[in-house]
Amino acid sequence: MIDEKLEDIYDDVLRRNPGEPEFHQAVREVFESLGVVVSKHPEFTREGVIQRLCEPERQIIFRVPWHDDEGRVHINRGFRVEFNSALGPFKGGLRFHPSVYLGTVKFLAFEQTFKNALTNMPIGGAKGGSDFDPKGRSDREVMRFCQSLMTELYRHIGEYTDVPAGDIGVGGREIGYLFGHYKRITNRYESGVLTGKGTDWGGALVRKEATGYGAAYFLEEMLRVNGTSLDDRTCIVSGSGNVAIYAIEKITQMGGRVVACSDSDGVIFDEKGIDLDLLKQVKEVERARLTAYAEARPDATYQEGGSIWDIPCQVAVPCATQNEISGRDARMLVSNGCIAVAEGANMPASPEAVRVFSQAGVLFAPGKAANAGGVATSALEMQQNASRDRWTFEHTELRLAKIMKGIHDACFETAETYGSPGDYVKGANITAFQRVAGAMIALGLV
Ligand code: NDP
Repeated sequence: MIDEKLEDIYDDVLRRNPGEPEFHQAVREVFESLGVVVSKHPEFTREGVIQRLCEPERQIIFRVPWHDDEGRVHINRGFRVEFNSALGPFKGGLRFHPSVYLGTVKFLAFEQTFKNALTNMPIGGAKGGSDFDPKGRSDREVMRFCQSLMTELYRHIGEYTDVPAGDIGVGGREIGYLFGHYKRITNRYESGVLTGKGTDWGGALVRKEATGYGAAYFLEEMLRVNGTSLDDRTCIVSGSGNVAIYAIEKITQMGGRVVACSDSDGVIFDEKGIDLDLLKQVKEVERARLTAYAEARPDATYQEGGSIWDIPCQVAVPCATQNEISGRDARMLVSNGCIAVAEGANMPASPEAVRVFSQAGVLFAPGKAANAGGVATSALEMQQNASRDRWTFEHTELRLAKIMKGIHDACFETAETYGSPGDYVKGANITAFQRVAGAMIALGLV
């Protein structure tokens, strides 16, 4: 329920952003947590902070023309939504996926603003991307596309302005092409302009692992304060991309047994536990589909289509995309004995799913808290770039673990303070909102 003091503002968001249901959903979810805060702090309404927070500082849409290997011309659309820079330069990833449109980028940038605030590091919120589909494209086609995108994007970014990174469809290869072209156009080796770089040329160790590892750290802490652990737990991780692979790796190191993962075509069930070396070989080296995993591992089964959430588990970690857990999926998870859900992806649980988990007493870690380890390590990469330093894997992972504990504790304590113990959604939204809103008031009407 949205507090009546926020209803008009929410109606305004709907009116000003028609046809963008994911953005409406993300705003609504935050508003549902804020009633108690605006009652206590009338200055937030008086200063128009909430209205300002729902309006991006800047939105850029541009044409991205490129040639495929046969010489055919393609036109894609590029986006960058610079949502809020009260706490630091805009920061957030780029997504390449055919489903990307302004509403996707806006919802992600809004979420990013809160997530970045939760890290307690000096970074604002942004997101970008394109409706380009990298699947089936050659390295040269991806390079030409990245170069064309950067030919426009470079005007809007910079280490003190806006620092993009990866997201769905954008990994080390794409960041390399983007950084190379930025360097060429600007004649500057400005390492801090992009994060997720290769570790030989300015990238931080642990960045690749950070989102998945961070989600596992958050999950472990959430289970610990609730008197249990990951030990011997049957777990399911959806997706098989960057976040999923490293969530599987850390959960396995922590004693959990991950028996299933997925891609957009189907689901792998591997009762003995996912073979991580094989998964990395298939996804990271060969860039192949999960069918290749099943072919190489006779004990595993591959089901085309279907829902990964039908597989019984105690812990579920969605790491693919938004709204991948429906209300029906959530009821299935609950009836199969699931006790905890940690969102590795952004907004993977639908609002109905979140309600089902809450009513069933399932521990639920929202993405803006649980997956913040990626951007936090990006901020560590920016620190290393700014000081021309290079930290070890162990040192960086320790920093990440500490940051994730800090995020967990802030969410946990805020939920208690505001009378909703154990509600990590409220804890995350209120903590982040107070940090961003406080800075916005301090900076005047900007
Ligand atoms: P990747 O591109 O590496 O992997 C995405 C995975 O999700 C793939 O297995 C992909 O399958 C699957 N997937 C993507 N879209 C869909 C869809 N529409 N339906 C079903 N499956 C889909 O992306 P990441 O691992 O980087 O990102 C995953 C999620 O985590 C996203 O929500 C992202 O915003 C979030 N995130 C990522 C961070 C990072 O550091 N990378 C940081 C914080 C959040 P297929 O190959 O078939 O498309």
